[in-house]
Amino acid sequence: MTKELKILLAAPRGFCAGVDRAIEIVKKTLGKFGPPVYVRHEIVHNTQVVENLKKLGAIFVEELEEVRDRTRPVIFSAHGVPKSVPKEASNMKMFYIDATCPLVTKVHREAERHNKNGNKIILIGHKNHPEVIGTMGQIPKENIVLIETIEDAKNLKLEGSIAYVTQTTLSVDDTKDIIEVLEKKFPGIKAPIKEDICYATTNRQNAVKKIASQCDMFLVIGSDNSSNSKRLVEVAKKAGCDKSYLINFKNELPIKEIVECNKIGLTSGASAPEKLVQSFISEIKKHTKISIEENTNSKESVTFKLPSSLTN
Ligand code: SF4
Repeated sequence: MTKELKILLAAPRGFCAGVDRAIEIVKKTLGKFGPPVYVRHEIVHNTQVVENLKKLGAIFVEELEEVRDRTRPVIFSAHGVPKSVPKEASNMKMFYIDATCPLVTKVHREAERHNKNGNKIILIGHKNHPEVIGTMGQIPKENIVLIETIEDAKNLKLEGSIAYVTQTTLSVDDTKDIIEVLEKKFPGIKAPIKEDICYATTNRQNAVKKIASQCDMFLVIGSDNSSNSKRLVEVAKKAGCDKSYLINFKNELPIKEIVECNKIGLTSGASAPEKLVQSFISEIKKHTKISIEENTNSKESVTFKLPSSLTN
């Protein structure tokens, strides 16, 4: 009898409401204003999404000064931007549309509120990630400090009234451990009113946690600059599947190893399209007999409105 590889598909996986909205904003802007439109930073961290939008007429830049034709619209990515960016765009008389995910904006407003109330703010996040740069740029830099690890939390020296906020795409478990240290060290520290790690990050991690221990290998489809995808690999490893990998392109699939497995887990980060998942499954199918079992851990129904400049 031919050996059959079982693929356990985690659900929910792939696009979240913030990514859906950001991509739709670029497409709608192209439809309304015609190409080209500029996008500051990768709209979402996925190579294929970015390449497809380039074909439709989007031009990606890292800074506004790279925009050659300032009469064209410019879109800010889903990760959010420091306050200086829309200010700079206005100074340059550019028309801009903000595709920041509303759940990132929520963290921005929270940081602002804490700052207004005289709190020093601790941001838990990953240095140099655009979301972290955006959140830090909401308030004067002397009032916000970034920490990444438990060690950072232990070594932190702060006085007075303190609050914390977090990046939206962190590991739920690692962040809990860091917060425990902060709460012990700074009794009375103010927490977010509603969890900053977003629903999509939490749901995707929980779905992986549920099945990873049964798998010989776990594949996370996503780009290597995608924070939430990288966290899914860590979660799968922690949950018991040592051979957990982040895969961006079909040619990165470890086919030889895959065909030796009895069961593999498969998921995708919040910025990876479902089309990619299906194309990876088709590729595996070329090399071995497969059966697929989808394991739905929770259902999602979140949607976000588009900016009024695109709907009016
Ligand atoms: S991962 Fe969460 S915060 Fe990031 S775009 Fe998606 S819903 Fe928004």
